[in-house]
Amino acid sequence: MQLSTYSIGIGDRFAHQGKAQLAAIMKAREEGVLITPVWNKSFREHSTIHTQPMDTRQAADAAVKALNWNEAYFVDADHVGLKTVDLFLDASDFFTLDVADYIEKPTAEKDIDAFVNKFQKYSGELAFPGIDEKFEVNQSKIREIAHKYLFAVQEAGRIYRHILSKKAGDQFVVEVSMDETKEPQTPLEMFFILAAIAQEGIPVRTIAPKFTGRFNKGVDYVGDLKQFTKEFEQDLAVIQMVKKEFSLPSDLKLSVHSGSDKFSLYKPIHQALRKFNAGLHLKTAGTTWLEEVIGLAMAGGDGLALAKKIYRKAFDRFDELCLPYATVIDIDTVVLPQPDDVDKWDSRMFVGKLKHDRRNPLYDLNFRQLLHVGYKVAAEMGDRYLKALDQHAEIIGQNVAENIFERHIKVLFLGK
Ligand SMILES: [Zn+2]
Repeated sequence: MQLSTYSIGIGDRFAHQGKAQLAAIMKAREEGVLITPVWNKSFREHSTIHTQPMDTRQAADAAVKALNWNEAYFVDADHVGLKTVDLFLDASDFFTLDVADYIEKPTAEKDIDAFVNKFQKYSGELAFPGIDEKFEVNQSKIREIAHKYLFAVQEAGRIYRHILSKKAGDQFVVEVSMDETKEPQTPLEMFFILAAIAQEGIPVRTIAPKFTGRFNKGVDYVGDLKQFTKEFEQDLAVIQMVKKEFSLPSDLKLSVHSGSDKFSLYKPIHQALRKFNAGLHLKTAGTTWLEEVIGLAMAGGDGLALAKKIYRKAFDRFDELCLPYATVIDIDTVVLPQPDDVDKWDSRMFVGKLKHDRRNPLYDLNFRQLLHVGYKVAAEMGDRYLKALDQHAEIIGQNVAENIFERHIKVLFLGK
């Protein structure tokens, strides 16, 4: 099974929207673009919802079977390390090795020396086809990068070899992620990180660097668009070069995490992909859950009442729910709607506040972000929530599919 040039990570917290998500991808295929669906769910989400990776696998398999999808698809063990990977071994065939926490951890000096010796041949001026800027390389720069990143890449190697030992003979896709860190990697850092990944023998297919700006959950990008575009193009240029230079897989591509709703980035990304003839993996996750709440609110009656109840509980547990996501949300509590006011809203008002439509004056990104992290409340409702999903499956499914196709795929992959 091959990951195609374009792939999309589709999270589905409650494992109810597999078909709706796949329907969006099938629509893209009808319009001439093949996108590989990758169902992703992290250890954190599984723990919060009390699901197992095998639940994700079963939901994905069922959706694929129901809609007769005869192309590749994957189930991603999202953001795993040595401590968590075992839980995902049976269910997953895509592994996102998260080594961000190992950046700047001390590395054996002999390993640093060996790395510098091996790659000092790149000393001088380094240029990447497709970008004008040239980069000055010398031994001390290589050493500095090795000090910062070599241990993290070695950790990725340890996780990879562990998976390999357990899944011998099975094919699986490997992603290396360093996105959950403070500083974006420079082009030179990317170059030598990929050199180190090649040296570790990791057949990396997607790499998730940290990009400039804020990738808050479920809302648009906040940052310097020009700077982002510049860095994104640099990353693409580096990746194109390292494939040959270090004999990495020829379909190696970038992976953009927290990719839901980064609407202002999709056009520049699409243009950059065209320019470099490059592929992309876009990870989205949490917004499918928000489409469920939107669908419930649209349904009115019991559905709307349940959506309001979820909001009230999330509001009451603000600190607890926001804490795990502190670095990826920005909620202005002063203007956050009070539950008593929300209770008075009709369907149109609730949906208008929640749906990510920046042209709608009702749209409220504070309200949206709090509900985004509020899935724990729905998880605790258990059957009551799941039954509501079944009861309003049609209207929810329409919202889920429309969100993925119209607002994400169309702009990013079809360039419309
Ligand atoms: Zn990530």
